[in-house]
Amino acid sequence: MKEVKKQIREFKEEGASGILFTGGEPTLYEGLPEAIEYCVSEGLEPRMISNAQKLSVEAYAKILAASGITNVNLSLYSYKKEVQERLTRTPGSFEKSLKGIENTLKYLGHANINIAITSLNIDHLSDTVKFIHHKYPQIHHFVFNYLLIVGTATKNLFVVPKLVDAELELKKTAHFLKKHNITFRMERVPLCYMGGFEECSTETRQIVKDQPYLLYLLRKKRIEKAKVRGEDKFHEYSKADICKSCFLTTICAGLDPRYARVMGTKELYPVFKNPKTIISKIHSS
Ligand code: SF4
Repeated sequence: MKEVKKQIREFKEEGASGILFTGGEPTLYEGLPEAIEYCVSEGLEPRMISNAQKLSVEAYAKILAASGITNVNLSLYSYKKEVQERLTRTPGSFEKSLKGIENTLKYLGHANINIAITSLNIDHLSDTVKFIHHKYPQIHHFVFNYLLIVGTATKNLFVVPKLVDAELELKKTAHFLKKHNITFRMERVPLCYMGGFEECSTETRQIVKDQPYLLYLLRKKRIEKAKVRGEDKFHEYSKADICKSCFLTTICAGLDPRYARVMGTKELYPVFKNPKTIISKIHSS
């Protein structure tokens, strides 16, 4: 804990305004509540991304609430128990996730939902969002992450949906959320697949806002630090020749390189829309 506190102080001295506890799974770290408390005492905003499993224990949710954390993103992949448990490879995780969300809302008073987009849940993504909204109307923000082709996904490529197959459900989901004034972000989806909700692209927002930020990576007990600007962050992303004629090319990151390596870039198509409209929506939201 001494080392963690020292690190938190150093982040503060570097100009950080908050600390994101993510993973792996941050709740597996026993010292998490104390680390969060320390962030709060140092005036840094603590945030956390969790699978919600440990928060299903009421006593733990109370401890985390008392630590002072207010910004929590919880993962839920599907309203279908069998899909959730297949994706998490943990029997019983569906009920625990729901209980964890419930406890978080009850004791922390706030929760956002993270959904990884895979071929197992994409066909009912909009229904999953509707299920969450009806069950937990207090939830006002969603984050969708297009599955990264890393780790086990590289050996199970069937789990990675093609963009063309995801397009309709992405649109239905965005339409539902907008209709209910629920904010959301989508990561690793190029703008040609986000027609009508381009301002919700995480990458585009970072490019448009071009806010430099510090990124700390814990590698083999060593902290590596990098200063990243929005536009630099995506220099490895892939584009197709067709992107040269696309009006949105300056504000679109393109395809995640790992996706492009496996699936190619043939799914991309140019968009002839004025980027200024999207930029002004980003600045006003
Ligand atoms: S065609 Fe290329 S630049 Fe245009 S929206 Fe698609 S990925 Fe982005």
